[in-house]
Amino acid sequence: MSGFRYERTPIDEETGRERVGSFGLILQPYTREEAVLEGQRCLQCAMPFCVQACPITQDCRGYLGLIAQRRFDDAARLTLLDNPLATVLCKCCYHYCEEDCVMGGRGTPIAIRHLKRAALELGRSDLVYVPSAPRTERIAVIGAGPAGLMAAWELGLRGYPVTVYEQAAFLGGQVETIPRYHLEGTELRRDLDRFRDLDITFVTGKRAGEAFTPESLLKDGYRAVYVAIGASDPRALGIPGENLPGVFPALPFLLSVNEGPDGLFGRKNRRVVVIGGGDVALDAARSAIRLTNGGDVTVVYRRTREEMPAGAEEVDEGGEEGLRFLFERAPIEIVGDDQVRGIVVRSVRPGPADARGRPTTVEVAGSDETLPCDTVLVAVGERADIAALPAELDLSPSRHPWPEGKRPDWMTDVEGVFASGGKSVVYAMAAGSKAAEAIDAYLAKKDGRNPLPRPDPFGGGGTAPGPPKGYGGPTWTL
Ligand SMILES: Cc1cc2nc3c(=O)[nH]c(=O)nc-3n(C[C@H](O)[C@H](O)[C@H](O)COP(=O)(O)OP(=O)(O)OC[C@H]3O[C@@H](n4cnc5c(N)ncnc54)[C@H](O)[C@@H]3O)c2cc1C
Ligand code: SF4
Ligand code: SF4
Repeated sequence: MSGFRYERTPIDEETGRERVGSFGLILQPYTREEAVLEGQRCLQCAMPFCVQACPITQDCRGYLGLIAQRRFDDAARLTLLDNPLATVLCKCCYHYCEEDCVMGGRGTPIAIRHLKRAALELGRSDLVYVPSAPRTERIAVIGAGPAGLMAAWELGLRGYPVTVYEQAAFLGGQVETIPRYHLEGTELRRDLDRFRDLDITFVTGKRAGEAFTPESLLKDGYRAVYVAIGASDPRALGIPGENLPGVFPALPFLLSVNEGPDGLFGRKNRRVVVIGGGDVALDAARSAIRLTNGGDVTVVYRRTREEMPAGAEEVDEGGEEGLRFLFERAPIEIVGDDQVRGIVVRSVRPGPADARGRPTTVEVAGSDETLPCDTVLVAVGERADIAALPAELDLSPSRHPWPEGKRPDWMTDVEGVFASGGKSVVYAMAAGSKAAEAIDAYLAKKDGRNPLPRPDPFGGGGTAPGPPKGYGGPTWTL
């Protein structure tokens, strides 16, 4: 047999019991030797499926090869060359690359995301991005989540002056709601530190639709506007009792947990029910079990475990931490007086497919049961809050919960205004990158010049290298 090592160099992690009551990072970093060992497992494939699966075509094959040669400084630089939010992503990316790594066919995929962390933590990552010659066309970005930040980076590198308007007091959008056991909270600041020489101005506490509109920004002299407002308006359950004290939407709850030691509901509550089956529901439930020091936390989901949209890793780890799961149950009513006392749920069974062939569910009459609880966390999805934005833009969500321009380059119905977003941090970054290219192409066409390719982000002259040799085109769509 060959000398391939099919199994991953183990990553130290806290046990389920250690994790309860602690918001410390679960995954511990590789040592230098462990990182080199894992990097050396990479086959350096001529056709790098890992790169093709990465929405921002991060040259992961490249940095794995450099780590294998112990060249950590070079690995950090290569990582940051096409990934300006790498410090965030090295801990929280859903690592689409690893799903397509060929080593997964026989053993465990290379720990591509964890080695990105090794590159940045063991190599020199306090680098600074260098803008090209300044341009005069001002561009506005609305929303400082990963999509808006990536667009600002792309445009700032090309020399455009960019103003990012953000309604919140902080930057990062939904990244700020990611629990501390995945992301410590200082990562985004370290990434944005590298932006300091780009001509990007951040204006926080300014909400589009109130202080200004995309059209008013165009009138104020911005040549293009990118609307990157994401989807963080919580959907309601639409059942009686939803307004009782003790019922919280998951996003504000998660944000409050990250902001203060006791979160929105303090540590006094012990019996929590979380409604939903996605990653946000799991984040809320796993945060609640930490906050209540191993309290009674039940996740209620209307379909089966196999159908849960949450990642298997999250569900497994949540189980190790003591979460209880109740599948095939629908919430019917939240009961209580001056506080939640319980939630009534009803059994649900698979029903016939609907007209479009999608599986449906039917509620089983007479199967109601009341789960005693004092807190209900609602995580049944989010949508964009576009109520205050002008209807002429036609930002109504279509394929996705976030607003997207309906033209192929994501221009909206108003010329010069673009809109998009993404289902995860790296997908949102890819959307921001494409939007920036579209804005640059739009301005180039208007001004009768060629579009500007992404320059070398570290000012080496020429253009950025782009996807590595062997790259065969993306395997994903936004
Ligand atoms: C709890 C939670 C955990 C997650 N965990 C992960 C994870 O581990 N890994 C991962 O890859 N992804 C994760 N995601 C998903 C990821 O965070 C999002 O897909 C991503 O942030 C979307 O980026 P965006 O820029 O499109 O939108 P957002 O991040 O939502 O950013 C939009 C920004 O626009 C601002 N805004 C909205 N309306 C206006 C307005 N009218 N005027 C001005 N500003 C406005 C918002 O305040 C926000 O800052 C998680 C999401 C949540 C909610
Ligand atoms: S950004 Fe995410 S998908 Fe891309 S290489 Fe890194 S871990 Fe993989
Ligand atoms: S697919 Fe896997 S083995 Fe091949 S280059 Fe990518 S990380 Fe290395």
